Amino acid sequence: MDEWLLYIKSVVLLYLPSFKFRSTQFIFNPSHDVDNPAAYSLVRPKRLLSNLLTQLTSNSSSFRSSSSGFFRSILSRYQLSAEDPFVTYDYLMDVSEEYGTPSTFFFMAGSTHKSYDTFYSLKNPKILHLLRHIVARGHRLGLHPSYNTLDDSNLLNSEVTLFRRVLDSINYDTTPISSRNHYLRWSSYCSLNTLEQAGIQRDYSLAYADMPGFRASTCFPFVGYNHFNDCSSTVICYPLIAMESSILDTAYLALSTTPSAFSLFQQLISSCQSVNGCFSLLWHNCHLTSSADRLFYKSLFDLIFHPP
Ligand SMILES: [Zn+2]
Repeated sequence: MDEWLLYIKSVVLLYLPSFKFRSTQFIFNPSHDVDNPAAYSLVRPKRLLSNLLTQLTSNSSSFRSSSSGFFRSILSRYQLSAEDPFVTYDYLMDVSEEYGTPSTFFFMAGSTHKSYDTFYSLKNPKILHLLRHIVARGHRLGLHPSYNTLDDSNLLNSEVTLFRRVLDSINYDTTPISSRNHYLRWSSYCSLNTLEQAGIQRDYSLAYADMPGFRASTCFPFVGYNHFNDCSSTVICYPLIAMESSILDTAYLALSTTPSAFSLFQQLISSCQSVNGCFSLLWHNCHLTSSADRLFYKSLFDLIFHPP
């Protein structure tokens, strides 16, 4: 749709050269859903075991670092251990700061599904320490509503209330409140109404996990339409263009950190740049466990800020 609008603008300017359109500038929004704040801490025993086995089997030479990270992580009481493979927040913020663009971290404030939610608490001292650290470095915080909040405004309200209370306690201004639904869950009929009722003003969920690109047909933020009440929504939708797992993981396109994956990211970024739109990227903190992941992540910033 953005390309069609650009074409229509060019036709209008052909006949009305003095007509002034609102100009836009390309924006890059890196963001991170904190589903698993750490691999070896704040998780249920079954998930902890699974994370440990994954780390141990992913690379035989990593046994020593995995085991030392494991013990340091479970022994650390007031902050997440930097040796934990999922504790990549400083790396994410370092990269964002190097290129002068803030990151947004979406944290969960509730758990409503025993398999799909992680059950960490926003009030845990380690999470509070992390929230303060992110805010002190000038990055943003948003809410990652749990699995079953999709059409349940009472559940979502309780998570928003806790989110606001915790963020108030660390002096973070939650207005406007932003969110992205866990698993990118979305119902065209009721999601915007549920978000409105919970007082959320910006949503970043609109994407298909199995198909990176333009679910909303645009990369620009837009005022949503509340189909439940048949009226304009108070929520501004910020379409998500790419999630790392959609492109890299075996569950989806399975391209891993290959040139094909890079080329697909390049196409998506270039489509947004060509219309001076917004490239919104989701990269999970738990998907930077290898040096290949980290190099790939940083290469996307290079591509955006220092194009060849
Ligand atoms: Zn999630």
